[in-house]
Formats: sequence, C-alpha cells, structure tokens
Amino acid sequence: MASIHTTSRSAELYERASRSLATGVSSSLRRFVTQPPLYIDHADGPHFYDVDGNCRADYTLGWGPLIVGSNHAGINAAVARQLEKGYTYGCQHIAEIELAELIVDSVPGVEQVIFSNTGTEAIQSAIRIARAHTGRDKILKFEGHYHGWLNNVLVSYRPKIEDSTLPQATCGGQPAGEFSETLVLPWNDVDALKDLFQRRGQEIACVLTEPVLANSGSCMPRPGYLETLIELCREYGAVSIFDEVITGFRIALGGAREYFGVEPDLSVYGKALAGGFTMSAVGGRAEMFEVLRDMRTIHSGTYNGTSFNIVAAIETIRELRKPGTYDRMNAHGHAVAEALTTTAAKYGLDAAVSGVGTVFSVHFGVTQAPRDYRETTRTDMETYGRFREAMLANGVQLLPDARWYVGTQHDDAVLQHVIKAIETSMKETMR
Ligand code: PLP
Repeated sequence: MASIHTTSRSAELYERASRSLATGVSSSLRRFVTQPPLYIDHADGPHFYDVDGNCRADYTLGWGPLIVGSNHAGINAAVARQLEKGYTYGCQHIAEIELAELIVDSVPGVEQVIFSNTGTEAIQSAIRIARAHTGRDKILKFEGHYHGWLNNVLVSYRPKIEDSTLPQATCGGQPAGEFSETLVLPWNDVDALKDLFQRRGQEIACVLTEPVLANSGSCMPRPGYLETLIELCREYGAVSIFDEVITGFRIALGGAREYFGVEPDLSVYGKALAGGFTMSAVGGRAEMFEVLRDMRTIHSGTYNGTSFNIVAAIETIRELRKPGTYDRMNAHGHAVAEALTTTAAKYGLDAAVSGVGTVFSVHFGVTQAPRDYRETTRTDMETYGRFREAMLANGVQLLPDARWYVGTQHDDAVLQHVIKAIETSMKETMR
C-alpha cells in the first residue's frame, strides 16, 4: 500500500468546488479535516482511494457508519436487487418489517422501533415522544455531548465559559430562546444529577446522554452512572434516552444496552445501523410509542423507510450478527490502541486511550483517560495534529479529534500496516 501523498488534484477540486458549493464542502467540519479537504475517488473494504492516487487505510469510517467497510458485496447485491423494485414508495413494504424484527431481536429491551433518516432527526423524534409521554418540556443534556445540529440540542457542546450548568450556544444563529427548555450538566457526576432532579425533577421530560461520550474523547461512564441516570428518570417520571447514534450496533450488537446491561426508556440509532446508508431509528418498550398510536404526537418524513436504506441496514446487521464479529473488531482496536500507547512511550510522549475496541480516542500528553468533557480539554491536540498529518502521509486516514473507528474490514494486513505507520509517524512527529 505505497502512499504517494500528493494532494494537488484535491486542492484543485476544492478550489473549483468553492466557487459554486458554499464553503466547498457539504458539512462544516469537513473543511478542517485535512488541508486541502481530500476528494475520494472510491473506497473498497478498509481503504479510501483519493483523486491523487493515494490509498489509505481508513479509521474514520465516514465518521462512524462504515462498520462493515465500503463496497460490501452483500450490501451491494441487496441494494441492487432493491433498486430494480423501486426506490422509495411512501407506502409500506416487507423489508421494513424485517428490519424492525431484526433490531428487536438484536437489542435487549427494544420491543418496537420507528425509522428516520439521520441521527439528528431521530433524536428530535425521541425528544418529542418523551415530551408527549410526560406532558413536560425540559430536556436535560450534558456538556460535550453531541446530539445533532439542531438548536435545542447543539448546546454546551464545546462550552467556552466555566459554568458547566449554563446552556451555551455552540455556533452563531442559535437564539437562546430556541434552547430555553434545555438544561445542562457536567457528565459522569452523580451528585450533580441527583441535585438537579431533587430541585427540578418534576419539570424534566427527558434526559439525553451518549452512553459512551464518543463525541468528546470517548469517555467511559463511571460504574453505576448510567444506572443511576435511568433510576432517577423512573423515580421522577422522566424519559431516559440513550443517544446510540455512535454506540448502537458498534460497541456491541445490542449497543450500550448490551454492553452495560442497562435498559433506558428509548435508544436512538444511526450511523452503523445501515453501514453507510441513510437510516436512523428510535427503539424502546412498546408502551413508549403509545403517544404515536393514540396520535398525541406524530412522527413523519417523506423518506422514512426508504427501501434501499432499509435493505442496506438488514444486510449490515446480518453481517454484524455473524459469530465472533465483535471479538475480532475489539481485538483489532485493542491492538491499535496498545501500539499507540507503547510507541508514544518509546518516543517519550505520555498517552492514554479511552473508549472500547470499536471506537476509542487517544489522548496525548496525559496518563489518565479523561472522564468528562472538561478533562478532555487537557489533551495535547497540537502534537496529535502533527501525528495525524504524518499518519496521512504514511497511508492512514484519521479523524481530527483523535477518535478511531474500527470495523469488520480491519483485518491483520491492515493492522500490520497501521502499526508500522504509527511507528514511522511517531518518530517523525517527535523528531
Ligand atoms: N448523535 C450522535 C451521538 C452523533 O455522533 C451524531 C452525529 O455525529 C448525531 C447524533 C447526529 O447524527 P446525523 O449526523 O446522522 O444527523
């Protein structure tokens, strides 16, 4: 996998794109992932091939979805078969039932689901269900957690001031009135949670949490934290919502419910659910969806249940259900994490890893894995940035926030390649 690492064609295309496509990219952050933003010609299994002819082992997985890799034969065949039968119907079809049954069979405590297209949308559906269910308006979320780009939840994602309980807009164009029903707390802090519930528990419609804080350093929940969160919600009549857009079908087939052995009222799925196709879902106990059956509220969308996305999700889950899949992905992730920390130590750099085998973050300049958003801000991102650039030149594509995604396509050959790239890149970075 020789890497030539010229980016001149990408640079030309970016310049051309910027003339007609505002910002040159289709999602704001993509502008900063690499300089210039890379134009991908095609992807195959674990590899991305850019327009300059570079081949790289990909650990970004399209920001998470590509859990079974690109150009997957089973998904391709199922989608091709489906395309001949139509694209989207705005009516029901059998594959929807098959997918719903497959999810119910795969995820503990999920009795029913609804389908949407993106994680952002499904989060809003879960919030609306919780509000209709409780008759309350307040949403509680946590610092550093990302639940999509809409105003009521893009709050205190990268807070700029010290007060961890003051809801803060994340970007311009977010009037305070649009998140006036959103409460914020530091995560992994049981006392703060209990205190808030004692004071305002009767106002809270739902508590929204990433069960592993994948969007900010892949922090793990403290033992008992998720359980306490769910118990407090039950005690005060609020709805517990796990945002499993990243963890779902990733940290285990049954996501955080299976991994931690807990059952929130609702879970939201996206990304890995459909292996790169546009699909999201909300799942939970059947009673949680009573508000839709009795029309207290609605869930809608022209593209909900679009046929080729549904069959892609079915194939993805079938692939993930094969015996040994998660053990293999976790072993790969642990081997990469081990290579990162031992190689860093060899070159005199402190490093800690947090998360699980299939999604983890490496933190340079610290010895302890962080436990919440504020702790992640102590990481040496400057050194990581230089390391990541070296990795890119050495044939490995990584996300800018030091989060690594692992999928079924990451085999031993990719492992050998990445371990070698880590050694070379660390040497270059620390020189
Ligand atoms: N929730 C989490 C935890 C996410 O990481 C994301 C996206 O990264 C979302 C929700 C929003 O999903 P989407 O980008 O599909 O709208």
